[in-house]
Amino acid sequence: MSATLFSQIIDRSIPADIIYEDEYCLAFNDIAPQAPLHCLLIPKKPIPKLADICAEDQALLGHLLHTAPKIAAQQGHGEHFRVVINNGERAGQSVFHLHLHILGGRALMWPPG
Ligand code: AMP
Repeated sequence: MSATLFSQIIDRSIPADIIYEDEYCLAFNDIAPQAPLHCLLIPKKPIPKLADICAEDQALLGHLLHTAPKIAAQQGHGEHFRVVINNGERAGQSVFHLHLHILGGRALMWPPG
């Protein structure tokens, strides 16, 4: 599997505005933010998309969901935020390394486009 942009952010071969890191995951601000808070939370394990997870990834996915509200709170938006995962090109996925968008800091409409 070729290295995605996000793998290169994990290994620091390209820069990013990293706001959180632990043993399993990394969060950085989105380069084209759609809200005052718009960061991406990614596992260090290179899973291309949500549909590719396997049983052994359950704890990792739980860790990501446990970490997302902590990051929103750390960024000052702990009460109102949205977590989005795009799976596949027609759902809006453009980088094939699993990532959670964490958005907040403005009213968020529903449904998304
Ligand atoms: P998606 O369309 O769900 O795959 O989301 C990919 C996201 O990655 C988009 O919101 C992009 O703005 C963001 N993105 C692309 N390149 C970078 C980068 N170098 N640093 C931070 N965010 C990026």
